[in-house]
Amino acid sequence: MQYPRLEEALDQAVLNGLLRFDEDKSLMHVPFSLSPCPILKEDLHLMQNLTEPFSEMMLRVSRDREFLRQILEPLAVSDPFLEMLLGMSVPEQTQNLQMLVQRNDFFLNGLSHSGENLRQVELNTIAASFPYLIERLMQIQRMHFGSDPVLQQSLVANAPLEMIVDGMAEAIQCYGKSESYMLTVNQPGEANRFDQLGIEQLLWEKHGIQCMRKTLDEIGQKAFLRQGHLVLENNTVALVYYRAGYTPDDFINPDSRKGRELIENSSAIQTPDLWMQLAGMKKIQQTLTRPEILSRYAPAVWKERMASTFVRMHALEDEIKDFGECKTALEQALADPESWVLKPQREGGGNNFFGREMEDLLKKMHATQYSSYILMERIQAPAHPAWLIARGQSEHTECVSEIGRYGVLFADQGKILRNQDCGYLVRTKSADVNEGGVCAGYSCLNTLILDDEDPS
Ligand code: ADP
Ligand code: MG
Repeated sequence: MQYPRLEEALDQAVLNGLLRFDEDKSLMHVPFSLSPCPILKEDLHLMQNLTEPFSEMMLRVSRDREFLRQILEPLAVSDPFLEMLLGMSVPEQTQNLQMLVQRNDFFLNGLSHSGENLRQVELNTIAASFPYLIERLMQIQRMHFGSDPVLQQSLVANAPLEMIVDGMAEAIQCYGKSESYMLTVNQPGEANRFDQLGIEQLLWEKHGIQCMRKTLDEIGQKAFLRQGHLVLENNTVALVYYRAGYTPDDFINPDSRKGRELIENSSAIQTPDLWMQLAGMKKIQQTLTRPEILSRYAPAVWKERMASTFVRMHALEDEIKDFGECKTALEQALADPESWVLKPQREGGGNNFFGREMEDLLKKMHATQYSSYILMERIQAPAHPAWLIARGQSEHTECVSEIGRYGVLFADQGKILRNQDCGYLVRTKSADVNEGGVCAGYSCLNTLILDDEDPS
């Protein structure tokens, strides 16, 4: 069956700029849903309230370089990308100002009214995308649901863009050099560029700050340091905003590494700096599930509520007690492959292993590779029926939704100057698809709706 108002929905998507470039360079709408994801007020509020403590924790982790090195260096032996990141020539400190634009992603694990349904998937410290396009979708849905007052009222408002842009403007003002720029580091031929251009546009319109867009390659070839400042095309860069640099593909050409090192050696503020990027690695997430490690970095009053969102995460060789019997996590995963996800230290979607594929990989994996991966308990999110619109076609199917909260943090020598929750992202995908990722083609952007059965 086709969605009855498909043509109208597609027109509204284009009209409101919910767009990306397709592989053949033609314009295409970004996949979206017209069935908002239901959430209970308790879960929504907790998710919102957790943003600040999680950002604060990531700040502390990012400043403990000894801890990051201690956990990540052993992995670098079998992970060339991590080896490259850790091997970069970066000085001890060139800039005390740190900025984080993060997105903390969750699945709901059930729909109980206890407010304990959140399960963290991951926290993105680099290239947290869609703050612009998700607002476009809100506009589209408001227009589309025009005649349905109940739906209109229960849509959860969402405006992450302006708060993120205000945070960037504050950072640039703190840099203290007039007429300086924000530099967006993008991937070559970036398909999802409108989400980035939307940020740059508001930075200019509201704050009069100009932006440049360059790949790491171009930065390596053209940028230089002048009295510590990063200079590009004769303009000083106050803030570097990474929407690239998180995958080995971004470092194929040696100039890209040079570009990243140049930035790290300059006094430009980075969103995020190398250490904050490393703090977002899956191995660090796994390590933070250990109570004694969490206690070191999490704000004390939030520690337990943060931990309540964690599922089990293990190194492959961890010993786990199972009904009195001791097994390694690897053995557990092989005994029950549908209950675990195998993750390497990668970002950007499409890198994880599930079910049979995970089993096959684990069976043939050499012990020297174990440390590059972590095992994570698979979250069984409740399904909800949804209309998905992708590549001009509609589909009605059982779906699961991943909900992320955006956060902005700005700090000077670890002292927090701004720490805010900014809004949300929902990505809805067919329940039988394992991976996420809107641009990777698995998921559809979506909004939240307060659950009908919510008593308040
Ligand atoms: P990436 O950095 O590539 O985005 P994620 O950890 O977010 O890596 O995993 C990618 C996708 O895999 C998620 O968007 C989600 O759909 C799925 N996924 C990841 N972890 C789990 C999990 N523990 N249980 C169920 N699905 C998961
Ligand atoms: Mg993710």
